[in-house]
Amino acid sequence: MIKRPFVDLEKLKEIVQTYPTPFHLYDEAGIRRNARRLKKAFAWNPGFKEYFAVKATPNPTILQILKEEGCGIDCSSYTELLMAETLGFRGDDIMFSSNVTPHEDYQLTSKLGGTINLDDFTDIETLQEVAGIPETISCRYNPGGDFQIDNQIMDTPGEAKYGFTYDQLESGCRILKSKGARYFGIHAFLASNTVANEYYPVLARILFQTAVKLQRATGAHISFINLSGGVGIPYHPDQKETDIMAIGDGVRKAFEEVLVPAGMGDVSIYTELGRYMLGPYGCLITTAMHEKHIYKEYIGLDACAVDLMRPAMYGAYHHITVMGKEAWPCNCMYDVTGGLCENNDKFAIDRMLPKIEIGDLIVIHDTGAHGYAMGYNYNGKLRSAEILLREDGATECIRRRETPADYFATLDFTGLFREQVKV
Ligand SMILES: *Cc1c(COP(=O)(O)O)cnc(C)c1O
Repeated sequence: MIKRPFVDLEKLKEIVQTYPTPFHLYDEAGIRRNARRLKKAFAWNPGFKEYFAVKATPNPTILQILKEEGCGIDCSSYTELLMAETLGFRGDDIMFSSNVTPHEDYQLTSKLGGTINLDDFTDIETLQEVAGIPETISCRYNPGGDFQIDNQIMDTPGEAKYGFTYDQLESGCRILKSKGARYFGIHAFLASNTVANEYYPVLARILFQTAVKLQRATGAHISFINLSGGVGIPYHPDQKETDIMAIGDGVRKAFEEVLVPAGMGDVSIYTELGRYMLGPYGCLITTAMHEKHIYKEYIGLDACAVDLMRPAMYGAYHHITVMGKEAWPCNCMYDVTGGLCENNDKFAIDRMLPKIEIGDLIVIHDTGAHGYAMGYNYNGKLRSAEILLREDGATECIRRRETPADYFATLDFTGLFREQVKV
C-alpha cells in the first residue's frame, strides 16, 4: 500500500504560512468518516457504543467531534474526567478504566454517573468505602497465560498487571451483587495494536464464554461486554489495513453462537478504541533543519521525541513522506533525528528516502493517537501545537504551542526570572 498524507504540498505550504512547524495536523473529515464506519460495523448490536480512549488524543476539539459522532469517552484519570465533564459527557457517556486508582478519581466518576471498570478485586472494598457501590459496575478480566490467534502468540496477559482472575471475577460479582450492584459488565484488553481482523472476534468469544459462565455461577445480570482498545492500524506500508466490517461481523458471529443460545442476546457491545479512531487521521508536520555527514547520514528535524515518543520508546515505525518528492527515487539512506541529547531521539533509522534538502517539509504519518499525548518536556523542549484541518479545508489551532512560560509555570521564581520569561 502506498501511504499518502491527507494533505498535499500546496495545502501544506499554505498552512505553514500561518502555523510554523512543528505541529500535529488532524483531519476532521477522516475522523468522522472512520467513526461512522465503526458504528456501521456494529449496527447489528442495538446497545453498541464506542468510548473513545481519551488518553490517545486528549484534545477537547477532537473529543467534541467524536461526541458529535455519538461516541462516549473512556477516562483513566482525574484530569481526563474533568475534560469529559467540561465537554458535557454525562453518565452513560463516561467509562472509567483505570488502575492503581486514587480515591478522588472514583468519587468524581461516581459524581458524574460514569461507569467504573474495576481493575482489581481489592478495588471493590475501596470503592465501597470512598464512593459506594453503584447499580452498574464493570470488572476487568485477565485470563492469564498467552493470548493466541491461530496458534500465534499475540501477547502475554499472564505478564500484564491488569484485571481480575476468573475466580476473583466470580467472587467479585457475588460480593458486588450483595452490595447492590444490578448491571454488570466485563472488560478485557489482551493485545495492543493488532491489525489481524480476528483479534476482536477471538477476544469477544473469550469474553462471551466467560460472561455465560459467570451469569450461570452468580446470577449476576451481565448487561455489557467491553472489548476495549487494541484494534491496530497499518503504520508500515506493507501492513494491511484492518477491515472493520469484517471485524464487526466476526464479533456478531461469536455473539450469535455463544450469547444468544444462552439467552443473553440483550448484551450491549462496547469498545474503547483509541488508535483505530485517531491514529491515521493525524500527522506530525516538521521541517528538515540540519544535515550531518559522519559515519552515517543524518537529517535533523525541528521536531523531536517530545512531539512523538513512539519511535524512541518502542522502536515503532512511522512512515515518512518528503513533501513534493513523492515520485523521486528513495536512494538516500538516513537516520532522521530530533535534537534531544538522547541517541534514541530518531524518527527513523537507516530509512531509504529521496534526497532531503534543508527546508523540505517532512510529514511523519499516523501520529493522531498516542502521538502528541505522550509528549514531555525533556531537555526543556517545548511541546508543539495541534492544528485541525476542518472538513471545508479551513484550519484551526486547537492547541497552541508551548512557550517558556508554560515550561516554568509550576515553579515559583518569586521574581527571579520573571523578566526573561515572557509569555
Ligand atoms: C490505552 C487503552 C485503550 C485504547 O487503546 P488503543 O490501543 O489506543 O485502542 C482502551 N482501553 C484502555 C483501558 C486502555 O488502557
